[in-house]
Amino acid sequence: METARSVSFITMGCAKNEVDTSRMRSHLIKAGYSISEDPEAADAVIVNTCSFIQAATEESIEAILDVADFDSVRSGRAHLVVSGCMPARYGDDLASEITEAGAFVPCSKEDDIVAIVDDLFDLDRSELGCSGVELGREADPAPVSSYVKISDGCNRFCSFCSIPYIRGRYRSFGYDEIESRIDDLVRRGSREIVLIAQDTGRWGDDFEEPRTLAQLVGDLAERFPDTWLRLMYIQPEGVTDELIEAIASHDNVCDYFDIPFQHVNPRLLKLMRRKGSIGEFDRLTRRIRARIPDAALRTTFIAGFPGETEEEFEELLDYVSECDFDYIGVFPYSREEGTHAFELPGQIDEDEKLDRAQRLRELADAVCAARISERVGSVRKVLVCGEEDDGQVFGRAMCQAPDVDGVTYLDAGSVGEIVEALIDETLLYEMEGSVSPCNDVL
Ligand code: SF4
Repeated sequence: METARSVSFITMGCAKNEVDTSRMRSHLIKAGYSISEDPEAADAVIVNTCSFIQAATEESIEAILDVADFDSVRSGRAHLVVSGCMPARYGDDLASEITEAGAFVPCSKEDDIVAIVDDLFDLDRSELGCSGVELGREADPAPVSSYVKISDGCNRFCSFCSIPYIRGRYRSFGYDEIESRIDDLVRRGSREIVLIAQDTGRWGDDFEEPRTLAQLVGDLAERFPDTWLRLMYIQPEGVTDELIEAIASHDNVCDYFDIPFQHVNPRLLKLMRRKGSIGEFDRLTRRIRARIPDAALRTTFIAGFPGETEEEFEELLDYVSECDFDYIGVFPYSREEGTHAFELPGQIDEDEKLDRAQRLRELADAVCAARISERVGSVRKVLVCGEEDDGQVFGRAMCQAPDVDGVTYLDAGSVGEIVEALIDETLLYEMEGSVSPCNDVL
């Protein structure tokens, strides 16, 4: 049943927001709405906002104001809807600031998107000849690589982070829900599923009969043997021996560990309300490498946290210069209202924070590029992801996560295939490979 109305999405922020958009999109398609790739032509535009940090909030506001300025919205022909983190974080204050929006949909209400959009169009489903909203099934091809959220919210309350205030308490999604989402994506063509959450390693510990991430990964790996599975955002405490074993023992689970450390100095980690020390982090990486010597390791660090002395920052530089991580994300500390760290003494000047982040990033690039260059001569499975305008085929090896770790350029391959490639060259984070004749080798 078509409603003959079109909806367009503009998604800000991280992969978790992309997943929320895809979920709302799916609800709307099933309810009979069409999805338009042209926001200016759509009957409703949903800006799915991010407000994790101030810079992201500012970008989201810009996107909202751009849409509010569309002829279609100014003339009243189309509706503007603001969803996601901003309505969750700023509540009614946002409604009084952005009067052009017809509806605000915080994260917790995103599953009600059909009723909310129906309301904007004064649409009565009983007049359409249907009472529910599960009318159709998504048929569009899914991306080669898709993100799937396994939980939402976070209980950790790291002192710098606004997520627990925006997304609420941690809640795992059930196995059946996750499996059915993956099943749908695989049916529509996804070859890689990236499992994400704010705190992935905690999955299942809030069930009446607790389960573990290792069990989830093992079950999914066996249920979807032709699909790559990849885990992102595992807090250090979540990297159990059971999880390392589950990753090691399934060929279709990427040997990839994304473990945010944020700092290595114990005093700063305590102020961040996080655990760990150089000794503990070293033991953790050794445990992984003892079982999976060639695992790809990624971490993130914050530079310029309140009170970080030059000596403490240099301790972080020393650690990075000697660590064996393949990828290191670096962020300058962002002072977020409402968080514990906002009130801490010793806030560091903006220029100094940017300068420290830049120094750390340059060092991390040098360390990681050297590690990545050691891959020359190795043979890697590569998922073919696309073609550049000039026909150059590219993909990602198991050691390269989407959006953050660069790509592998190939001399052959069709999108969606998993090929074996000999790595001929690397350039910083990018790799180049020659494909062996035997294709789809998962
Ligand atoms: S683990 Fe810490 S940084 Fe990550 S979402 Fe939770 S509170 Fe934020």
